[in-house]
Amino acid sequence: MVSRVARVRRSEELPVGLVRHVQPGVYRAGQENATMRSSKRRIVWPDGKDFAFTVFDDTDLATIANVKPVYDLLAEQGILTTKSVWPLRDPRDDRRGEGMDCEDPEYLEWVLGLKASGFEIGLHTVASGGSRRDRTIEGIERFRSLFGTEPITYSTHMSNPEGIYFGPARLSGLRRAFYELYARKRHRMRFRGHIEGDEFFWGDICRSYVKYVRNFVFADINTLGECPEMPYHDPSKPYVNYWFASSEGQTVDSFVSTISEANQDRLAEAGGACIMYTHLAVGFNRGNQLDARFERLIRRLARMNGWFVPVRTFLDFLLETKGPHELSPGERRRLEWRWLWHKARVGRT
Ligand SMILES: [Zn+2]
Repeated sequence: MVSRVARVRRSEELPVGLVRHVQPGVYRAGQENATMRSSKRRIVWPDGKDFAFTVFDDTDLATIANVKPVYDLLAEQGILTTKSVWPLRDPRDDRRGEGMDCEDPEYLEWVLGLKASGFEIGLHTVASGGSRRDRTIEGIERFRSLFGTEPITYSTHMSNPEGIYFGPARLSGLRRAFYELYARKRHRMRFRGHIEGDEFFWGDICRSYVKYVRNFVFADINTLGECPEMPYHDPSKPYVNYWFASSEGQTVDSFVSTISEANQDRLAEAGGACIMYTHLAVGFNRGNQLDARFERLIRRLARMNGWFVPVRTFLDFLLETKGPHELSPGERRRLEWRWLWHKARVGRT
């Protein structure tokens, strides 16, 4: 049987039936105001919970040795999150210096075990190095055969040119010019996943198989407070069905600072929601010893009345509750300025 992804590969035109996540007519004129109003209302979380909290873990540098103890803690505490993977091995990473991938049988078995215990598996591009279109398609096919589902949630790995609407393309207008000035020395990479005809283009595949893509990261623990529009569709970025934002936690230090006791209490009081952006392989567990601050704060959080579900479950709930939201030019400007301001203060996000 020919898989759906393979059929897309043979056709330049995406068969209409394959567009699974965007329903025609869903973004109707006049809907925006209603959605904006509802997005400012306090969300009623399932099961009488006070707030929502989850994590999207970029898989950089992850090995069983360094992340398993972190996931053991999360599982024990009932905090179910999203772990991203690389389904394919990058041929240039022959020493696995970038971290493990799903071509390692022992690692794959552990990741499948995580999925079986309720964690979501997401995609962080298909390999640790850049992948051209055919390779990305192969990686998504592999993901589907390993996990039995499309990679519903996705984040771009910073060193991969197939990144979609990444780098300067995250921004528009004046913000893009500012970013290009700022990033001139740091990011020479041009991200091309959304550029039709480019060898790294996979926008049509993304639209068919990925539902949620991460974009902006903000300092505050209340991601939904910073970005009440999420999950949103941005008509200037048509190959992404829905975008989500995240809160700063790329290292263990920024993670524990964002989920401090005071911030946890503030999140609960606001009835808000947090999606942490992070790399759980980086410093959360050293020499088989969990970072004491991280462990204490996670145990505290777990005792609170929070809704702890993976990113996809959380975003599906928001989408169902608030309805689809199309980003207006004014909302885009506001999000872009806020993200630029955050980026200027903390660097990489
Ligand atoms: Zn990465």
